[in-house]
Amino acid sequence: MLNIVLFGPPGAGKGTQSQKLIEKYNLIHLSTGDLLRSEIAAGSELGLKAKSLMDNGLLVPDEVVIGMIANKVREHGNAAGFIFDGFPRTVPQAQSLDKLLQEHGTEISAMLALKVDDEELTNRLLLRGQTSGRPDDQNEELIRKRVQEYNTKTAPVADYYAGQSKFFAVDGIGEINEIFAQLCKHIDSLTQ
Ligand code: ADP
Repeated sequence: MLNIVLFGPPGAGKGTQSQKLIEKYNLIHLSTGDLLRSEIAAGSELGLKAKSLMDNGLLVPDEVVIGMIANKVREHGNAAGFIFDGFPRTVPQAQSLDKLLQEHGTEISAMLALKVDDEELTNRLLLRGQTSGRPDDQNEELIRKRVQEYNTKTAPVADYYAGQSKFFAVDGIGEINEIFAQLCKHIDSLTQ
């Protein structure tokens, strides 16, 4: 299996690149942000709890997202592999993912990180907020809060994978296709 963690701050382009990667490598896309927004849309109890945290730019509890991911991995037992987008976002989430994949007889192949500076991120997210309808993209203070959550809680996840020699970084500023080519280069070097 090819299991990729696509990593980077909010607005780095993970969603865009995930779409291209799932097509090329025939992978299942698992975005915890998308899964949480579906729960909110469905009006579930989980969605209601998550919404107030998400609307304040805060992370939802680890056990909530871990449970959602475990269900999805189980559902797609025969997949060629997964792209994890927006997950793991904390070190405990990364440890749980390792355990989960081990139970399924597989492991993370690589973490691919998209590097984008804070100013560019804020501009991209405000622009996205004009069309996405996402409340968390429409307020500059909230965007800064999310980037701050990323810098304190999520950035250490990169060290976790670096410790397993699975971390690769790519410049996330530039042409979408050029960034995609860089990501593919790393993936192709894994499978050779
Ligand atoms: P972005 O990367 O643009 O912030 P996402 O769609 O990945 O957007 O996430 C939106 C929000 O959902 C986050 O700000 C957070 O509140 C919540 N969320 C998503 N994934 C996780 C996760 N793995 N752990 C905790 N909270 C999460």
